[in-house]
Parts: sequence; structure tokens; C-alpha cells
Amino acid sequence: MPAPLSLEEAQARVLAHAHGLSSETVRIEDAAGRVTAAAAAARVDLPPFASSAMDGFAVRAADVPGTLPVVARVMAGSPATRALAAGEAMAISTGGVVPDGADAVIPLEYVVQHDNNIDVANAARIGDHVRPRGGDVALGEAIVVAGVRVHAAQLGALAAAGVAELECARRPRVAVLATGSELVRPGEALAPGQIYEANGLMLAAALAAAGADVELLPVVADDEAAHRAALERGLAADMLVTSGGVSVGPRDLVRAIEAELGVEEIFWRVAVKPGKPVSFGVRGATLVFGLPGNPVSSFVGCELLVKPALRALQGVRDPLPRLEPGRLAAPLARSADRDEFIRARSRVDGDRVVLEPLPGQESHMIVRAASADALVRVPRGEGELAAGAAVFWLRLSD
Ligand code: AMP
Ligand code: MG
Repeated sequence: MPAPLSLEEAQARVLAHAHGLSSETVRIEDAAGRVTAAAAAARVDLPPFASSAMDGFAVRAADVPGTLPVVARVMAGSPATRALAAGEAMAISTGGVVPDGADAVIPLEYVVQHDNNIDVANAARIGDHVRPRGGDVALGEAIVVAGVRVHAAQLGALAAAGVAELECARRPRVAVLATGSELVRPGEALAPGQIYEANGLMLAAALAAAGADVELLPVVADDEAAHRAALERGLAADMLVTSGGVSVGPRDLVRAIEAELGVEEIFWRVAVKPGKPVSFGVRGATLVFGLPGNPVSSFVGCELLVKPALRALQGVRDPLPRLEPGRLAAPLARSADRDEFIRARSRVDGDRVVLEPLPGQESHMIVRAASADALVRVPRGEGELAAGAAVFWLRLSD
């Protein structure tokens, strides 16, 4: 049996096989959560015209302090019909077009109004409270680059700059298949020896949130013919993710049937805890992950190996999980031969993040794991990590 790979080596092998999918044009209304396949450029200068940053009066800076007649009112959306002449003021609302001839805005709260005049007591500088045309972005400049996920702020930026559609990676089609004769759907009664199926739903949710178009296949029993049919169906997707049946038991059939179906195994077993007996292979362009059945092993394997591959298929620039620095709140035993990913809760304490390991670290304890917001990496080695030790941790998305 070959020695388990290091996590880094396993991740490198996965990414070496995860090539970006083709792209498609997506309307911005449908682009939330998608990954850009090309830069998108501003269709206008933004702001498209010099506009007022305040409710107040457009003037020439050189004319104040002084008393000026108010010759027009400029609302947002309706520009003045003529230019401002020397010695004049025009009332203007926030977002209104600063009229030709004006070069500053005096906020309402700094003027005294009487009859149809304003008294301005203070001096102004050219450009005061005026948002210059193109001050945010100029026509043709990039708003987003290729390989970024479009979230709310990017959508706001794209819309503001007049971009109606953009090129995004096609959503990867991912088939999720839970294996195990003992598995029953929640809502049904458990017969002796049965447990409720947790992984299929959990993995489908995690992968959909990471951009996949998920097909959750019906659970399959530990039976060769049933495996063959279900795996063949799943292999039609861009990625097949199974749970269970990748260990060394007599009813662990996944790898053997996948081999029969033409899957080339790239690795089996990674030196992490939980999740060691994970498998990865390819058939054509389809990526094939076999996650262990214990729910926490499945969850951790998905974070460390499957989600990075899914990001890479979408062309995300840095697809690997981003670990952040923190400190342990309590000592932790180390494993001699495997890096461990400990479920923990994070809190901010002054200028550092402190990680409190949760009780219940066994790989079947998904209920315990579900209250974690952090996976703390405990590197393999001798002895224990002391309280206060520097560690790296992965934020579990909210
Ligand atoms: P396996 O990897 O198939 O040997 O499964 C390891 C352990 O995880 C066993 O206790 C299984 O009953 C359990 N298990 C496997 N698949 C699931 C699942 N989809 N949901 C919950 N537990 C599972
Ligand atoms: Mg099983």
C-alpha cells in the first residue's frame, strides 16, 4: 500500500487536473456568485458628469464670500438649461449636474437664504463638493479582472459603470452520490443498524454555495451493480463526488467499480485527520473524488480538496483554502504522522484571533462539528501544541 500523500502534494495533484471550463455570457441580474472569465470594462466615465456631492448651491469659488442671486434650481436627473454666469448661484441637489461655469458647491448648511439670494460667509476652493467626471473609474478601465467571484460590491460596481452582461465561467456540473446500505432518509423510521444519510445533502449544499450546478443522486446500497449504474451516471458530470466506501472494508466498492468504469486513480489516502482514505481520479475531463463516509471526514475533505478543484474549474485565481494566523486557546495533542484539522470556535481578543477547540473531535461527530466556525491546522509532529501556540486556521464560511 503506498504511503499517504501530504496534503500539499494531494492538493497540487488535484489542481494539476482541474482545468478551467469554457465561459458564457451572463446578465448581471444572474451573475451573483459567478466567476468572471474576462475583465469587464466601464461603459461610461463614472460619475458620467461632474456632480454635486451635497445639497447646496453651485457657484464660482472666486465669487465667495459674498451675496449671490439664485438663478435656477438643479435637481438630480434634470440638468440646468444654461451655464452659470459670474456672480450667480444655482441651487443643486446631491447628484445634480454641476452647471457649466460653476466650479464649487456650497453646502446648504453654510449659507443664509433670503429673498432669492444667498449669503456665503466663507471662502471656497475650486472643486469643493464637486465629484469630478470619471473620478471613480474612466470609460474603458477594468472594473473586475478575470478569475474573481462576483459578490454584492462587484455587482454594484458593474451596474454603476453600465455593464449589463459579462463573461463568466460555466457553472461546473457536479454529481453527488452517497453510498451505504445503512443509510435512510430523515423522516423515515430507522430499522436496527440503520442511520440517517447526512453527507449527500451536506456536500450538495457546500458545493452549490461554491458555484456548482449540483445533481444529488439517490443513495446507493453497497452492491456492485447498483454502484456501477450510479457511478456511471455521475461520471457524466464535470465532477463526481462520492461519500463512503473508499476504505479497506469488503463492502467498500467505490474505487474498484470506478476503476472498472475507466477512472484513472491519481491518489488514494492523504496524511490528514480526519479524512485519510480520500481518493481522487479522473476519467477524461471528469474529476472524481471519493470522500470517506464519516460525515466530518467528508466535510473536511470537501473543504481541503473538492472545493479548491471546483474553484479551479471556474478559473478562480487562488483556488486553495486561505489559512489565517491565530493562537490556540488550549493545548492540543499532535499526531505523529498526520496533519489534523481540529474543529474550533474563533474569537477576536485584542489584535489576535483565539481558537477554542470544541469537545468531540471524532470523525463521526458531525453535530459537534456543526457548531465550529474554524478548522485549525495542527501540523504533524511529536508532543503537544501549548496554549497560545501560533496556528493557521480555515474560516468556515457563514
Ligand atoms: P464508510 O466510509 O462507508 O466505511 O463509512 C464510514 C462511517 O460513516 C460508517 O459509520 C458509515 O455508517 C458512516 N456513513 C457513511 N456514509 C454516510 C452518510 N452518507 N451519512 C452519514 N453517515 C455515513
Ligand atoms: Mg460504507
